[in-house]
Amino acid sequence: MQQREMYINGQWVGAISGRTFDTLNPSTAEPLGTVPYAEAADVDAAVRAARAAFPVWSGMTQGERNKVLYRIAALIREHADEMATLEGLEHGTPYKDAFGVCMGAAEKFEWSANAAAALKGDELPVPNANTLSFIKREPVGVIGFITPWNLPTIMTAVKLAPAIALGNCAVLKPPSINSLIGLKFAEVISKAEGLPNGVVNVITGSGSVAGNALASHPDVDMIGFTGSSETGKSILAAAAPTVKKTVMELGGNNPVIIYPDADLDAAIKVLAWRQFNNSGQHCSGPGRYYVHERVYDAFAAKFKVYAESLKIGDPSDKSVDMGPLVSREHQQKVSGYIQGAIDDGATLLFGGEASENGFFITPTILTNCRHDMTAAREEIFGPVAVLIPFTDADDIVALANDSNYGLCAHVWTRDIGAGMKLIGKLHVGAVFINCQMLTNEQPWGTSIRESGIGKEGGTYGLLEFTDAKLVCVNYN
Ligand code: NAD
Repeated sequence: MQQREMYINGQWVGAISGRTFDTLNPSTAEPLGTVPYAEAADVDAAVRAARAAFPVWSGMTQGERNKVLYRIAALIREHADEMATLEGLEHGTPYKDAFGVCMGAAEKFEWSANAAAALKGDELPVPNANTLSFIKREPVGVIGFITPWNLPTIMTAVKLAPAIALGNCAVLKPPSINSLIGLKFAEVISKAEGLPNGVVNVITGSGSVAGNALASHPDVDMIGFTGSSETGKSILAAAAPTVKKTVMELGGNNPVIIYPDADLDAAIKVLAWRQFNNSGQHCSGPGRYYVHERVYDAFAAKFKVYAESLKIGDPSDKSVDMGPLVSREHQQKVSGYIQGAIDDGATLLFGGEASENGFFITPTILTNCRHDMTAAREEIFGPVAVLIPFTDADDIVALANDSNYGLCAHVWTRDIGAGMKLIGKLHVGAVFINCQMLTNEQPWGTSIRESGIGKEGGTYGLLEFTDAKLVCVNYN
């Protein structure tokens, strides 16, 4: 059992109350480590540390900060093996994926440093002579980050890197079930020479206590949150009395449209990978598939062949493709959706088994599904493909748009014109046609329906961590 402390103001500390809680290994359901249970007083200490560090860090030049960000990237690469192993132990990510995730996390720091250095202000036209008006980009201040368990390391990097690149200071609360991963991240970056104490603070605790204290703290300027839409609503309410800026990356139930002329092999390679990688716990992954009846059986058969090929098991085994889900609670929730769909008339084509030892669910394919089934209406967030046949292409946009969410949509067709015509009709924040990728340059997130507010990643995401200060100078 690992015993860890929290990282506040450059020091490793326990909770003021002395309280702790355990995290589990999802492959075995056994306790893995003990971490502090932060409450409002601990959150306050972390926020005060971040506030004190802000003038120092934001006062450094971009070049000085970038040297620190490059050191952080190098440290993440140096410690990638330990970080990836822990991500397997506490989250269940197969080692080969987790190692790649750590490399991606390192890159986020380098990319953010370069992108921050390339940001420019704007000069604005004014009617008066000898008057200059321009926009000066300034850091927002102290940012509270609350992250989800589905991609613990990359979610930390995608938030922290651009925020601190621009001179902001941060208090991060990782998901309670992946607290060790958050603290490991803090340990690695704390070794970066030149990083002032208090710029990054990591506290561990529950969402309802530590998360809520962070979201409502009067000296936090902005909340960057990724998680479910329900939690997002609580956080918005907690942040409202002090009118904080918020960037919210929330839930999705992403439609996939498979036209009869789609390249099915190419589609399976992308979609089935996305469906089962990380045990289906991806916000950008497929949520419900509308498959044209002419190719429905062929698509389902190919999906099954893919699912059969996967090796499920201990994430530390480098040949394993899929590990467990993150918790017993989530395993039971996903199993409930599978059983509910079967009760509603769906056919279990493959998988559907939940383990008692550990939190595994085998890759699952449900056929003969309908748009009105709960499994098609709600976000399952697991390794479960919900295949719905369709006949009339004219109906498909209405079905795809009929959701409380609007995160993204996937379209597969060889008729690029038909695919392109859907871009404007699909009420979502991102459309992927015959591919799916998310790079450092691409912004992610949307303000559509209950899927969030604002952007993360790319230059659009970077700008969220700045305030555009208007300056007007008369130099007559
Ligand atoms: P969650 O909402 O349960 O928890 C997310 C974080 O919020 C955790 O750190 C948790 O401790 C904290 N939290 C919980 N209650 C809180 C409260 N009342 N106040 C403050 N903080 C609180 O989400 P999850 O189950 O960890 O993650 C899965 C969800 O995240 C899915 O809905 C998924 O779609 C979403 N997600 C969205 C994106 C995106 O980019 N849109 C990316 C990844 C995950």
